[in-house]
Amino acid sequence: MSNIKESLILILLGPPGSGKGTQAKIFCREFKIPQISTGDLFRENISKETPIGLQAKTFIQEGQLVPDEIVLGMLYERISKPDCQNGYLLDGFPRTITQAEEFAKYEKRKITVVNLDVSDEELIRRATGRLICRQCGAIYHSTSFPPKIENQCDICDGELYRRLDDTQEVVENRLRVYRAQTKPLEDFFQKKGILKKINGCQPADQIFSQIKLASALK
Ligand SMILES: [Zn+2]
Repeated sequence: MSNIKESLILILLGPPGSGKGTQAKIFCREFKIPQISTGDLFRENISKETPIGLQAKTFIQEGQLVPDEIVLGMLYERISKPDCQNGYLLDGFPRTITQAEEFAKYEKRKITVVNLDVSDEELIRRATGRLICRQCGAIYHSTSFPPKIENQCDICDGELYRRLDDTQEVVENRLRVYRAQTKPLEDFFQKKGILKKINGCQPADQIFSQIKLASALK
């Protein structure tokens, strides 16, 4: 069914805390494709003072959103590089309908969009139960992955703490912003028939198998 020469272009959508970052890493490692983050592209172009980076910087310094054409320009430059020949995974892109429309016109190869579906209730549970080790940064969860001794890191015996911005109110607000921003994009990809919804409340290896299946890879 799938041959190696077939390229693999994946857009991964999912709310903060959905496990998107973990899946992106596994996927890129397994299929040897780069993970492209528009945030990283900004930082890179700005620090190297490329023409497009300098343009972007002006907007950022003035506290304005970087226009879609600049974001797209940076992205097109990146995906024209040889390491993207067999595909790539997009992270943090698209953010707007214009970006999505333009990208879908530009990229002639098959695009797969995976939406990691996790309920708000579950995302709030995950975030608010999170415990982090002060010494080594190891992450635990008060109910689903508790440390062996309460408030103590299994690895280094360090003290565990909760992040201040992991309160229910902050997490709810973060999710509201995410849903409002992403809903139109989901609708857009849905209409194009390339959106695959995957239940994000499963073990990581099962999610991974389903992402592979969604992109028609064995
Ligand atoms: Zn520790």
